[in-house]
Amino acid sequence: MSILVSNTKIVTQDRQRRIFEGNVLIEGSKITGVSKKPINQETEWKIDGRGKLLLPGLINLHTHLPMGLLRGYGDDLPLERWLTDCIWPAEGRLDPKSIKIGSELGLLEMIASGTTCFADMYFFEEEIAEITEKIGLRGFLGFSLMNRGTPELKPEEMHPALSQFIQKWKKNDLVKPVVAPHSCYTCSSEILTKAAEFAKKHGVLLHTHCSETKKEVYDCQAEYGKRPVELFKECGVLTQKTILAHCCWITKAEINEIAKAKAKIAHNPISNAKLATGSVPDLREILKANVSVGLGTDGAASNNDLNMFETMKFASLLQKHQYEDPLALPAQKTLDLATLGGADALSMKGKLGSIEEGKLADLILIDLRHPHLKPLHNPISTLVYATKGCDVCTTIVNGRLLMHEKRFLTCNYEKVLDEVSKVALELTK
Ligand SMILES: [Zn+2]
Repeated sequence: MSILVSNTKIVTQDRQRRIFEGNVLIEGSKITGVSKKPINQETEWKIDGRGKLLLPGLINLHTHLPMGLLRGYGDDLPLERWLTDCIWPAEGRLDPKSIKIGSELGLLEMIASGTTCFADMYFFEEEIAEITEKIGLRGFLGFSLMNRGTPELKPEEMHPALSQFIQKWKKNDLVKPVVAPHSCYTCSSEILTKAAEFAKKHGVLLHTHCSETKKEVYDCQAEYGKRPVELFKECGVLTQKTILAHCCWITKAEINEIAKAKAKIAHNPISNAKLATGSVPDLREILKANVSVGLGTDGAASNNDLNMFETMKFASLLQKHQYEDPLALPAQKTLDLATLGGADALSMKGKLGSIEEGKLADLILIDLRHPHLKPLHNPISTLVYATKGCDVCTTIVNGRLLMHEKRFLTCNYEKVLDEVSKVALELTK
């Protein structure tokens, strides 16, 4: 596929953070031209970019894709009751069919709201991988490991299945396999160690939850005599290919350990606030220590959506408010986290996160013709503080149009929405 987007305002996110009126050429999976001058080339698609903003697609660094099926189910409960009374029983009823529908729902939601790449971890990741590839998003898909096994696998079946999953998807263009030991409270130190060895052996990323709640940290100290980051370090989990989701309750010493290991952090401000986590990671300290940070939504059951524009705004406001500092996380830095930060966390810095020749063509267009987006004093401020996910009109991943002028081109939108309600009812009855 070849696409020319012409006469548009380009938020490049390049090294100089340039923004200019111009044209972008996409050939195959890559961006092959970015120019202020007209590009005269025949392409299959010509997109008139007037009145629009073109920017790199957003990267959602922490999701549990099919959990959209549980959106709004058991809200406003204490965390323990929410998990034991609502989420875990419903998850126990998951099967390949419900996973497929839940994943399609999540993929549609991300396409519609400008996310082009995501880091997932859940059960039935094989089904998630298949539908992700079919619909065409870029997914770093975490195969979950837990002491008690997963809804589809007994403990002894997990590692052989993980091996197969990695072999099958390792060379895929869009889907990348990831090893995902769930957390230090659901995985023994043996499972954590084995997961780290697996990730290293196959050269893939590792994605886990880390220090989300105070209880998790206290329990870890009670069991191992050390905090989660130290435990991870001992188990070999803390490496430059590791993504630690949350890190709400980490100390300065732990920040330094994470920095030393070059591990990455996925910050999920909305989920943390909704689940009343009670501590906001100090991004000023974390970024000062040169730790790579990306933004995530977490699952839609604890958010309650996968909208990265909302997450950017909330992340910025939360830092400002918490630390009484209007400069704690400015708009440009926030957009950086949702693009370049996510790319770096996924070891894709040279390939994703900005609009530059040679990079992969993951791009979105924002339609500026809405009252809440006028006037355009500062495009970055408008993107972070005023833009809604539904202002995205076109989504391109790997050079392929997934949504254009709000029309979905790779899936049956109506059918998915119809099926979701039926499947969700079965899970929660
Ligand atoms: Zn999570």
